[in-house]
Amino acid sequence: MFLLNNLPIPFLDLGGINARDREALIAAFTRVLDSGWYVLGKEVEAFEAEYAAYCGTRHCIGVGNGLDALVLVLRAWLELGVLKAGDEVIVPANTYIATILAITGNGLTPVLVEPDATMNLDAALIEQHVGPRTRAILPVHLYGQTANMTAINAVARKHGLKVLEDSAQAHGAQHAGVCAGALGDASGHSFFPSKNFGALGDAGAVTTNDSALADTLRALRNYGSHKKYENLYKGVNSRLDELQAALLRVKLARLDADNQRRRAIAARYLYEIQHPHITLPVAGDHNEPVWHVFVVRSPAREALQAHLHHAGIGTLIHYPLPPHHQQAYREWRERSYPITEAIHREVLSIPISPVMSDAQVEAVVAACNAWPRRR
Ligand SMILES: *Cc1c(COP(=O)(O)O)cnc(C)c1O
Repeated sequence: MFLLNNLPIPFLDLGGINARDREALIAAFTRVLDSGWYVLGKEVEAFEAEYAAYCGTRHCIGVGNGLDALVLVLRAWLELGVLKAGDEVIVPANTYIATILAITGNGLTPVLVEPDATMNLDAALIEQHVGPRTRAILPVHLYGQTANMTAINAVARKHGLKVLEDSAQAHGAQHAGVCAGALGDASGHSFFPSKNFGALGDAGAVTTNDSALADTLRALRNYGSHKKYENLYKGVNSRLDELQAALLRVKLARLDADNQRRRAIAARYLYEIQHPHITLPVAGDHNEPVWHVFVVRSPAREALQAHLHHAGIGTLIHYPLPPHHQQAYREWRERSYPITEAIHREVLSIPISPVMSDAQVEAVVAACNAWPRRR
């Protein structure tokens, strides 16, 4: 897999993360194998109840992946008449492409807004982008930190907008004591293997307190059907597998402890990395991030990446190109989002994971601090 490499300190040791649950995962696999029931059964039902309880929402609807979770919420709002084709959705300009694809894939119009110092949607800029066709805000809890949901929800209430959270990177993150997934009208979650809460393949879910939305989503994920061979909507096939649900139930038991380990590592990085050309990430007020990735910034990002590579430390860039510079959105190429563009030029993700040893953390700190300062 692309995240694995042969460096002494890999960016992310996914095999090591899952090996800790080897026996329990095999037992879950065996249970599903022997059940003879593989799609939409007891495991998905149990997982949905457990993850809804974890997030603190009334409903959880398992789907095929994180992109579909976002796509299907917007499609459900179209079916329910909350949105109409061509309506505008406010979204951060510096998000992962999936967030934008969910909007354009439904015939809706993304309105890109710059981030603040936390690299999340700048709530203070939203209101100037609200127009007559604006119907929703899609904040992204990027890098494991929730957006400023107090401010975002206040703007949404004032203008009658729906709020769909993209919680793909923020399982267990909190804002003002409330868990990601319970901070808006609905939330999309991804359980892609490398996320903080990852399956052993593709998987995703929606959480919401809205029962009408939850009902519509249960139909949309299953060919638009509540009852076999009766199709209420033009739905899709995007169901969470029984197998992935059973594996996720095993891994949910570890999520809080794993996030605590990530927080302890982040605390050390924030305290111990001291370099004039490395800017450390900042947490917003009332936020408890879960550090999906630990993203530093440097004007000499490529040199820092090469230096760490020579020290045996794997790094990644989240992300090299903003959505408005992607070929897929070439119609936006002339647009300018300077804060977003600076982020994409400067960010570098250094290793953080629940299976990193203290010695590895110390080696990362030492290598960062030993980066030659005269540039
Ligand atoms: C991973 C991710 C998604 C998409 O999830 P998949 O399960 O890969 O489809 C969406 N948004 C963000 C911010 C992500 O990081």
